[in-house]
Amino acid sequence: MNIDEIRGEYPILNREVAGKPLIYLDNAATSQTPRCVVEAINEMYYRYKANVHRGVHTLSQEATDHVEATREHVRQFINAASTQEVIFTRGTTESINLVAASFGEMLYNGDEIILTVMEHHSNIVPWQLVGHRKRIRIRVVPISDEGQLDLEAYEDMFTDNTRFVAITHVSNVLGTVNPVKQMIEIAHKHDVPVLIDGAQAAPHMQIDVQDLDCDFYALSSHKMYGPAGVGVLYGKQHWLEGMEPYQGGGEMIGRVTFERTTFADLPFKFEAGTPDFVGISAFGAALDYIERLGIDNIASHEHELLEHATTELMQIDGMRIFGTVPGKSSVISFLVRDISSYDMGLLLDKLGVAVRTGHHCTQPLMDRYGVNGTVRASFAVYNTLDEVDRFVSAVKRVASMF
Ligand SMILES: *Cc1c(COP(=O)(O)O)cnc(C)c1O
Repeated sequence: MNIDEIRGEYPILNREVAGKPLIYLDNAATSQTPRCVVEAINEMYYRYKANVHRGVHTLSQEATDHVEATREHVRQFINAASTQEVIFTRGTTESINLVAASFGEMLYNGDEIILTVMEHHSNIVPWQLVGHRKRIRIRVVPISDEGQLDLEAYEDMFTDNTRFVAITHVSNVLGTVNPVKQMIEIAHKHDVPVLIDGAQAAPHMQIDVQDLDCDFYALSSHKMYGPAGVGVLYGKQHWLEGMEPYQGGGEMIGRVTFERTTFADLPFKFEAGTPDFVGISAFGAALDYIERLGIDNIASHEHELLEHATTELMQIDGMRIFGTVPGKSSVISFLVRDISSYDMGLLLDKLGVAVRTGHHCTQPLMDRYGVNGTVRASFAVYNTLDEVDRFVSAVKRVASMF
């Protein structure tokens, strides 16, 4: 891969911040968007803007074709068995809320669900909302200090009341890649379905939902070089068919009278209202982009950046890295001595370096480590070793100010 050429596709990377060249290392929060994806957005507005799935007129047909072509593309990308199992949402958060609300309808007093301590708030709060209403018990898989899930504890958590498991594929803080295939197998032995939060996995690794045998999988376009406001929920057909719609409205109905409404077939039953047909179409361009580069090439480049950054950061006095499990994904969370993540982030920004600071929407995980927050650097395909060096120098410089 020619990283200079790749960077040329991202005008934003030429920006300066505080008079310094921008070093964008907040990719786990959102990745930047290459020109081909922005052009796909423009193209939709300039040539194809019409409401989808409704009109017989040409523009509406063409807009529908773009959306449905992206659905087929997503199906291939995650290797789902059918496009009926691919639902477009606003993002991972909405995908999980859909399952929590809709599958949650089938849960009752005393039922238990299993989460892990490293979940993003998006995979905690929706379950609490339904949990409080339905008096469901949430059990939490602990981790080692390195950031590895305790699989024995997980296995021991299953009881006759366990009804659902929801776990993240990759931790957005620790970078840990969880053994989800094995965990799904364990859950299935107990006839318990599993949702995988794939927000941090889909940008960095090949996803095969049939090989994983997961029951649900959630991802966000904006973390995959795509536009914001688009996400995917994959669900096995038999679960989706048994679930009540999440929202009601246009597009999701079969026949409506004031007495009774029948619902549309999958996947439309779960897609009430006009979808973000522009964003969905442009997400298709982002998938093309990832496939052109090759996800394995992206991952190996990011891995090289991760290794280099880890080695260099470790030279800094008082450096503490959170998440040290082998084979981790390309995020580094750290603190230097007792310098707060907020101070570090603010001063790095003055040096042109964009990192994430704070709790990263994982307050229970911060509690586990007894910290308020961490600094997180996360890499994407367009980052360079030179940027990593400048980032490390900037961290050293900030550390020396305290
Ligand atoms: C970003 C993220 C989410 C939430 O994704 P949205 O795009 O904000 O809906 C959920 N889980 C993990 C692990 C994430 O990193």
